[in-house]
Amino acid sequence: MGRLAGKIALVTGGASVPGLGSTTAQVFAREGAFVYITDRDLAGAEAVAEGIKAAGGQAKALAHDVTSEADWDRVMAAIDEGHGRLDVLVNNAGIAVLGMLDQCTLEAWLHQNNVNLNSVFLGTKRGAEMMRRKGDDGKARGGSIINISSVAGLIGVPGCSAYAASKGGVRLFSKVAAVEGAADGIRCNSVHPGMIATNIQGVALEDNAANYDATMALIPMGYMGAPEDVANLNLFLASDESRYITGTEMVVDGGMTA
Ligand code: NAD
Repeated sequence: MGRLAGKIALVTGGASVPGLGSTTAQVFAREGAFVYITDRDLAGAEAVAEGIKAAGGQAKALAHDVTSEADWDRVMAAIDEGHGRLDVLVNNAGIAVLGMLDQCTLEAWLHQNNVNLNSVFLGTKRGAEMMRRKGDDGKARGGSIINISSVAGLIGVPGCSAYAASKGGVRLFSKVAAVEGAADGIRCNSVHPGMIATNIQGVALEDNAANYDATMALIPMGYMGAPEDVANLNLFLASDESRYITGTEMVVDGGMTA
């Protein structure tokens, strides 16, 4: 039996391939979860869901701009109608607007924080509402919320002011959600990837030799992580194996922040 057998999961930002969201959705489905994959790129999310179904898993794609409260209402209503509950939420959708502080405009700052932080507020609030619902035993069903932050949410990385602020906010917000949700069995942890080879940066980096060498020098293990390295951590946090783990920051960075 899979490690997530019978669980209903939602992964945001799941359209990008290679991406942390799509890989997490694939790993969750392989372990027996029904996975809702959402993204503002619906065609991409549908392609990932079709791939999962072709491999024998269960998935459904939904259009979703994570900055829109109305979209969260619609997505949660669809999950409610489909399954009546949510066991796992991965707030993964995100963007990286990079540039030194003197080049960062207020507009870019607000946009970055809207996509990476305000969305996590909206999602965690909605997800916790669903997880607080009572099961047959009269107790809150509970669940696991996994908020994707970054090493930039832990240490000062140059050129990352808006990104770091958003990801640092995700870290501390997750701790509050963990403390507030604990009595209802709702766990919330933040995940902090280092350099992972996805569309957001890794693939572009691999095409730029000078940049690539400079970045590898920052990683004690000497190579970029694969999306599976983060997806496997997400799997652990989604599963009951991590039932006593909440309010933590889990780092997956090849030693970058050690
Ligand atoms: P990616 O660019 O490959 O995928 C991000 C996905 O989010 C895309 O499918 C995109 O369409 C979606 N998205 C963006 N804005 C959205 C919105 N408003 N509504 C809905 N969907 C939206 O990036 P990734 O590397 O897979 O990153 C996933 C998460 O991991 C992000 O939060 C990112 O900040 C974080 N992260 C990544 C790395 C890395 O090295 N790849 C490192 C640290 C943190």
